[in-house]
Amino acid sequence: MQKILNYINGAFQEPTKGEWIDNYNPSKGEVYSLIPNSSSEDVEQAYQAAKAAYPSWSNTTIEYRSEILSKIAAIIKDNLSDLAYTESLDNGKPLSLATKIDIPRASSNFQFFANAITQFSSESHESVGLNAFNFTLRQSIGVVGCISPWNLPLYLFTWKIAPALAAGNTVVAKPSEVTPMTAYLLGEICTKAGLPKGVLNIVHGLGHTTGQAIVEHPNIKAISFTGGTATGAHIARTAAPMFKKLSLELGGKNPNLIFADCEYDKMMAVTLKSSFANQGQICLCGSRIFVEKSIYKQFKTDFVKHVTALKVGSPFEGDTNVGALVSKPHMEKVQSYIKIAEDEGGTVLCGGNQVQVDGHENGYYLEPTVIEVADDKCRVNQEEIFGPVVTIMPFETEEEALALANGVRYGLSSTIWTNNLNRTMKLAKQLEAGIVWVNTWLLRDLRTPFGGMKDSGVGREGGLEALRFFTEAKNICIKFD
Ligand code: NDP
Repeated sequence: MQKILNYINGAFQEPTKGEWIDNYNPSKGEVYSLIPNSSSEDVEQAYQAAKAAYPSWSNTTIEYRSEILSKIAAIIKDNLSDLAYTESLDNGKPLSLATKIDIPRASSNFQFFANAITQFSSESHESVGLNAFNFTLRQSIGVVGCISPWNLPLYLFTWKIAPALAAGNTVVAKPSEVTPMTAYLLGEICTKAGLPKGVLNIVHGLGHTTGQAIVEHPNIKAISFTGGTATGAHIARTAAPMFKKLSLELGGKNPNLIFADCEYDKMMAVTLKSSFANQGQICLCGSRIFVEKSIYKQFKTDFVKHVTALKVGSPFEGDTNVGALVSKPHMEKVQSYIKIAEDEGGTVLCGGNQVQVDGHENGYYLEPTVIEVADDKCRVNQEEIFGPVVTIMPFETEEEALALANGVRYGLSSTIWTNNLNRTMKLAKQLEAGIVWVNTWLLRDLRTPFGGMKDSGVGREGGLEALRFFTEAKNICIKFD
C-alpha cells in the first residue's frame, strides 16, 4: 500500500514513531494509502528545519521569491490532470470540479502572491511641525503554521502557504488527515521549483495531536487556520495566552435570498450550484434558501424537479453532478441531520437517502436533499451541516428576509437575487457577512478580502490582507532638527 511521507527540510521522511493512519478513497469506501500519524517530535523536526531556513529566506530578494512561487504555479498547471485525479480520488469530488476549480485555483494562488509581493508597499508620514519622519516596515514573522481542511484540499492549503512564503516566512503546514494526497505531491513540486530546503515543511497527522502540536509550539508565532468553528475556538483558546497572530476562517450557514424580481432561470441554475457543488461541502454554499412568497410555490416545484435530476455518481464519470461525501463519519453526520429535520417537523421535499452507485457499492453517496422548514430557528436551519442538504422557506418582506438571513451565529457569505438596486444596496449594507454576492455566487477576485463575521471567523485572507497577516508592522520614527 502506498505510504505518504512527511516533507521536512526538503526531503520525504517517515514519522518518527512509525505510526500510520488509514487513508480512504471515499468513492469506494476503501483504504488505499497510509499517512503518517505524526507526533510532536515530527512537528519539532519540521519547526527546526523551518527555523534553520529563516531568516535567509526572508532576506532573499522579492524578485527571487516571486520567481520561485511562479515556478510552483507553473508546475501545478503542468500537472493539472494528475493533481485533479488525485484530488478527486482522495476527496470524492467530481473530477470535473477538481479539474476546473480546485487545481487551477491552487496554481493561481501561487501566481497571485508571486505578483502581489512585488506590489506590497508600506506607508510613510511626515510629522509636520514635529520635525520627524515616520515610516512603516512590514517584516516577516518567522516560522508560521498553516492548517487547512478537507473540502478544498490543495486550493485552501496553497491559499495560506503562498502568501506566507511570499512575505518571507518559513512554514510548518498540516493538511487535513482525510485528504493528504495533493499536499504530499506539493512537496515534490516545491523541490522541483527550487524552493530552498526547510522553507516549507508539511507534516501529516491528526488534528488533535499533530495540529495541536503546531498550535502549541511556543516559537510558531502565527497560525492561519481554516476549519470548523469548534476547532477554531479551541485553537484560539490554546494560542491566545501565547499572543500568537491568528487568522481563523470558520464555518458558515449562508443565506440565499431570492426576490420575485430576479432573473429566474439564471438564479435557478446558480442556486443548484450554490446548494450542491462539491456535495454541499463548501463553506460558502448557500444552505438556507429564503424565497419571496409570491414565487415560492413555483420555486419549490422547479427547484425540486432540477435537484431530483442531478446525477449522483462516481466522481470519475463526466456527467456526475454530485460525487461522494468525504468520509463515512461525515456522511453519517449529514444523515443524522435529515432525521433531526423530520423530528423537528421539517418536510423532506426530495432526497434524504443513501445512494448505491454501481461498482462503488461502499462509497459515501447521498441524494441531494431539500427540506422545507416552518421555523427558521430549527436545528437544520441553524447548524452547519456541510453536506448536500438545503432548507427552504418563504418570506414576505425585505425586512423579514434580512432578519432571517442574519438570524444565525454565522456570518460568512450571503447571496441576494434581485434586480432592484435600492434593495441591493440596503441589504448588502446590513447583511452580517464577510462576503455578499448579488446575482452570482462564488465569483472570487483574489485581490478582495475573504473571511467571516460572528462565529465564521476572525481576520481576513485574500490580496493584501493575507500579506498583512503574514507580516508584522513596525513603525520607525526619525527626528531631525
Ligand atoms: P476541522 O475543524 O475538523 O479541521 C480543520 C483542520 O484542523 C484539519 O487539518 C484538522 O485536522 C485540524 N485540526 C483539528 N483539530 C485541531 C486542533 N486541536 N489543533 C490544530 N488543528 C486541528 O474542519 P474540517 O476539516 O471538518 O472542515 C470543515 C469545516 O471547515 C467546516 O466547518 C467548514 O465550514 C470549514 N471551512 C471554512 C472555510 C472558510 O474559509 N471560512 C473554507 C472551508 C471550510 P484533521 O482533519 O486531521 O483532524
